[in-house]
This record gives sequence, structure tokens and C-alpha cells, in this order.
Amino acid sequence: MKITFLGTGTSHGIPAIGCTCDVCRSDDVRNKRRRTSLYVEAGGHHVVIDTPPDFRDQVLTFGVSRVDAVLLTHTHADHIFGFDDLRRFCFMQDMSIPIYGSAETLKSMAVKFSYLFEDSLWRATVPQVDFVAVNESFTIGDVHVEPVEVPHGPMTVYGYVLRHDHRAVGYFPDCSSVDEALIERLQGLDVMILDALREKPHPTHLNLAGSVEALRRIGARKSYITHLCHNLEHARTQSRLPDGVHVPYDGLVESW
Ligand SMILES: [Zn+2]
Ligand SMILES: [Zn+2]
Ligand SMILES: [Zn+2]
Repeated sequence: MKITFLGTGTSHGIPAIGCTCDVCRSDDVRNKRRRTSLYVEAGGHHVVIDTPPDFRDQVLTFGVSRVDAVLLTHTHADHIFGFDDLRRFCFMQDMSIPIYGSAETLKSMAVKFSYLFEDSLWRATVPQVDFVAVNESFTIGDVHVEPVEVPHGPMTVYGYVLRHDHRAVGYFPDCSSVDEALIERLQGLDVMILDALREKPHPTHLNLAGSVEALRRIGARKSYITHLCHNLEHARTQSRLPDGVHVPYDGLVESW
């Protein structure tokens, strides 16, 4: 299994437009964070989780060569507004790409991307996709995918666990709390990636301390925080984290 962090930043991205803080002005490329997305390759299948506004740049910069399926966590703007750039993959692969998400997410996609459903004389002008509502485990080839509901402030959104050949990764970029049942459910992961917006508490995201504590209890072999604000400078944040918890950067690849 191979994962590539296509984006690790919160909704504004880093640098944030107009901000002159030391992180937004940093020369360290690890402090340049696109909006959150993950690319998972397993068993010859290529899966993207969320298509943020930076999607085209992410694909070109980090070598996303193929997309067999897309998993959507929810339809906040920072997770979906690169969706139209799937067009190139539909065209190159000459296929309709399946898009998985909750029924609520897909209903919202139909509103936000209503042009996908209009009759078009020339189909190449819109992504050719098949929306598939999921509320339980399913497979993409021999990759087992488990959608998991988590709170994101007042909303319920999905995180995903992907398993292949006795390897497993959990991806939960937007999550405001982790209860005992979820900790129980996420035992035994190789890699766990969890929302850790910033130091101060936030109504719709875990903060750093809350995320680190949840990651400790989940106890994956390797843990990452994501969806990071410009308050969390890469090296300074990493130096304060316990063993086994890592700050990722855009383009980071983990393969096992
Ligand atoms: Zn800043
Ligand atoms: Zn969100
Ligand atoms: Zn988000």
C-alpha cells in the first residue's frame, strides 16, 4: 500500500492569502500546504480521497497518474472544488469514474455541480462520473473500503479506512471529536491520519492536543495529523509531538 499526501492544509491553504506571519512567509517547502487530499495506491488500484480546489496542481506536482475511484468525505468547499479536473482522467482512461460518498454528500454534490446532470452535446465538457451512495463497507477491486461517520461540528461526515493485503490506513481530515466506540473501531491500523487544525479549540475540528490524545489511544503503528492552520509551523510542531505522531507535508509518500 502506498499513500501520498496531496494536501495537508486547512481550508485557506498555507500561505493564507494576505497573511504575513512567519509560517506563511516561510521558505521551508513543508510549510506550503494545499487543501487536504490523499492518494492511495493498492493492489493496482488508484483512489483519491477528496478533490480540493488545488486538485489540478496536486495531480501535476505529485504525479497522480490514474484515478480509478474517488471517495468524498463531505462537500465543504475545501474538499470538492477541484472536482471538475477529474475530466482529464475520465478522458485519458476512457471510463466513467465512480464517486463514493454518503447519500447526503451526493445530494449536496448534485446541487453544487448541477451542470454534471445537464444534457450536454459534447460529453467531454463535463466529468463522466457515477455517483455511488455508500453507508457500509464496499470494495474497489480487492481494496476494502470502510466509510466511518464522524462528527464535524454539527455535521456528520465520513472518514475512510482502506485495507488491502493485511495493510490498513485510516483517513479522517475533518473531525471534531473521537469517542470510545471510534477508538475501538480503529484499532490495528498501520497508518492513521487525523484532523488537528490548530492549538486553540475549534467548534468543528479537533485541536492539536485533542488529536494527539486520540491518536495515542487509537495506537496506529504510525500516526499523522492533517488539515493544519498556519499557526502550526512544521518543524516546531514536529519537535513537540510524541514518538509515533508525525507532521506530514504535501507530497510526502508512505509505502509499506
Ligand atoms: Zn499566516
Ligand atoms: Zn469540513
Ligand atoms: Zn476541511
